[in-house]
Amino acid sequence: MFWDELDDHARSLARTHLRAVGTPIDGPTALRPIAAFLDVRLVIRPCWDDPLFTGISLIGDDGFRLVIVNELLAPPRRAFTLAHELGHVAMEHRPPRRAMCERLANVYAAELLMPYDRLVRQVRRFGANPRILAQCNGVSLSAMRRRLEALQRQLELGGGDEDFF
Ligand SMILES: [Zn+2]
Repeated sequence: MFWDELDDHARSLARTHLRAVGTPIDGPTALRPIAAFLDVRLVIRPCWDDPLFTGISLIGDDGFRLVIVNELLAPPRRAFTLAHELGHVAMEHRPPRRAMCERLANVYAAELLMPYDRLVRQVRRFGANPRILAQCNGVSLSAMRRRLEALQRQLELGGGDEDFF
């Protein structure tokens, strides 16, 4: 229950931010406007020193917000990393970040990149084909598979739309 409420909070925050900048009907989500809305200075550069580096976010004591993402990552991975880091900033996670923060940043990122309403529409249109849906939303196949599984669980719990899958 505790987790569910925190997850709901992260999801609704992501939806608020999508609404604030205007959600594209078909995706993928444009993340730069959301970074601008959150007043985040965005640095996307190739990190040749450490090709395995994904990204980092910092919130200064003076409120300065910075996100750095490695441009060498494949575009879907880059998008997820950026959305994840924006989640940390949006929820004001400061170090040391515990597993809970990582989880919530992932929930936020998933909702940002694969918003519930858009995904429901797409599943109705294309079926629950993770490969097609991943492409439509600019995310990796594994991210889309996880999202569809989570969505299915959510619907089972909520007793919602049984014809969905
Ligand atoms: Zn993180």
